[in-house]
Amino acid sequence: MSMGDVAHVERVGGEGPLLVIHGGAGRRLHEMTLEQKAETNAALAAALDAGYAVLAAGGTAADAVIAAIHVMEDAPCFNCARGAALTLDGTAELDACLMLGNGETGAACGLTSAKHPIDVACAVMERTPHVLFSAPSPALLDEWGIEQVDNAYYVTPARAAALEEWKQLHATGASAADAAAADATRHGTVGAVARDARGIIAAGTSTGGITGQVSGRVGDSPLCGAGTYANAGSVAVSCTGTGETFIQEVAAYQVHARVSMAGEALDEACAHMLEAVDGRGGNGGVIALPAEGAGAIGYTCGAQMNRAWAWEGQRFTGV
Ligand code: ASP
Repeated sequence: MSMGDVAHVERVGGEGPLLVIHGGAGRRLHEMTLEQKAETNAALAAALDAGYAVLAAGGTAADAVIAAIHVMEDAPCFNCARGAALTLDGTAELDACLMLGNGETGAACGLTSAKHPIDVACAVMERTPHVLFSAPSPALLDEWGIEQVDNAYYVTPARAAALEEWKQLHATGASAADAAAADATRHGTVGAVARDARGIIAAGTSTGGITGQVSGRVGDSPLCGAGTYANAGSVAVSCTGTGETFIQEVAAYQVHARVSMAGEALDEACAHMLEAVDGRGGNGGVIALPAEGAGAIGYTCGAQMNRAWAWEGQRFTGV
């Protein structure tokens, strides 16, 4: 299904337990090699299986989201945890958010040692009265039982090469086309939205940010309402793309507002949000599902989205 000139939106699944995941959207992902496509597809399938197994066993939407994201955080082909996009300094700074339909939320940004950033988001939600932590100390992460790694664990040869390419393009005053090509290396953020057998919904997102970001920069992913949002009365949403424009459009909350306040269908709401992001010069994608009924996957035209979903006997992965 295509909603117009700006965004493609697909309706996915139906009533009952449903899991939708993404592994980022970007302008040039369709130029991936066959090997890269196969690796990404396999990682999406593994994440989908891990998350849907939780739902099939009667587990919670939150646990399904976390299980799916864990697999993608371990896979070097995505921009989160191992394989994260690198800052200008060559280090990884990670952000994540988890939100449940009842409003419970946890998020963290600027993480430099958590093996699974989504676990930190979960710990913030479950173990503190707060919503968002910036660079929690290793001692605090220890207290929360978070597995920690050296920052070098996250750095892959592909991401180091992408940073070098990015630096060279910027040093030489690259053309818009070259800059757009390099932009592809910035994507690969992961996210999941799930609905369990009780109709409870949850959303989670985990990212390394964008290649060449100045240390300390934070995108939309860990911001409740921007890159991640869930509301039992409407939808669970996870976004990916040029974070600044998703923040400016309060993108995930915007999908909720369009559905619950403007009465838009979920696929229309996703398309209209992506149009607004496009209007600010951004691009990317979104996954969303309601408390009842089909979910949606949307991405801006010219972009490609790593995505997968599972519902009843149906299962889809695509890059
Ligand atoms: N939205 C993420 C950020 O801006 C990046 C991405 O989704 O590719 O940090």
